[in-house]
Amino acid sequence: MRRPILAGNWKMNKTVQEAIALVHEMKAGLEAVEIIDRVLCPPFVAVSSVSEMLKDSQIAVGAQNMYWENQGAFTGEISPLMLKDICEYVIIGHSERRQYFGETDETVNKKVKAALSHGLKPIVCVGENLEQNEARQTHALISGQVRLGLEGLTASQVSGLVIAYEPIWAIGTGRAATPEIAGEVIGTSIRKVIAELYDAATAEAIRVQYGGSVTSANIAEFMAHPDVDGGLVGGASLKPAEFVSIVELSAKAKGL
Ligand code: PEP
Repeated sequence: MRRPILAGNWKMNKTVQEAIALVHEMKAGLEAVEIIDRVLCPPFVAVSSVSEMLKDSQIAVGAQNMYWENQGAFTGEISPLMLKDICEYVIIGHSERRQYFGETDETVNKKVKAALSHGLKPIVCVGENLEQNEARQTHALISGQVRLGLEGLTASQVSGLVIAYEPIWAIGTGRAATPEIAGEVIGTSIRKVIAELYDAATAEAIRVQYGGSVTSANIAEFMAHPDVDGGLVGGASLKPAEFVSIVELSAKAKGL
């Protein structure tokens, strides 16, 4: 059985002091749900402080982005070398990065490779926008993002990845997908494509999260779907009691 994984993407919210306060409020509640992986992804400036606060706990820390080079004249960028000792995960190719910062499947692929080469665990985001969804391009788009984003990786590298399926029309809109839609896309456009590119065992091993307006009111139905292994949670991860209850309900929905 795949170990469920719930991650909170704080996006561009919280100063360092506010991040510390937020972790204080949710730490005990999250620690209690040992049976699933829990990841907090604060803004870069707070990664170090949050990691320090969580060093004796099983709660992991992730960055929200990363550049692919180790060092050099790349003003404003953060490298895997800078992250590898202060966090475990890194979100790569979030739709907001693709939309506002020009990220493409090719840059996602470079970042995934760079992260893996430094022992960072990528959470690779894929998702279609409303127009593409309505034009029935979801399968072509997501399968393309999977193929190009993972190009050149070995089966064992892919087995250890986390993919987050986040339909863009569901992110921050309060209009979540349904578990049936998420399950269908994850089963057909992600796992089946990975089975074709690699093999059935790799497709079975990779963990896939759903993201897009996840709350404590809908997480259980998503987690009840056998193809959904977790959630990438934006807005609701900034509310301590809400995020703790999302994590608790996720474990319960998987019968853990
Ligand atoms: C996200 O940030 O990846 C996300 C899914 O946001 P929200 O939960 O707010 O829709």
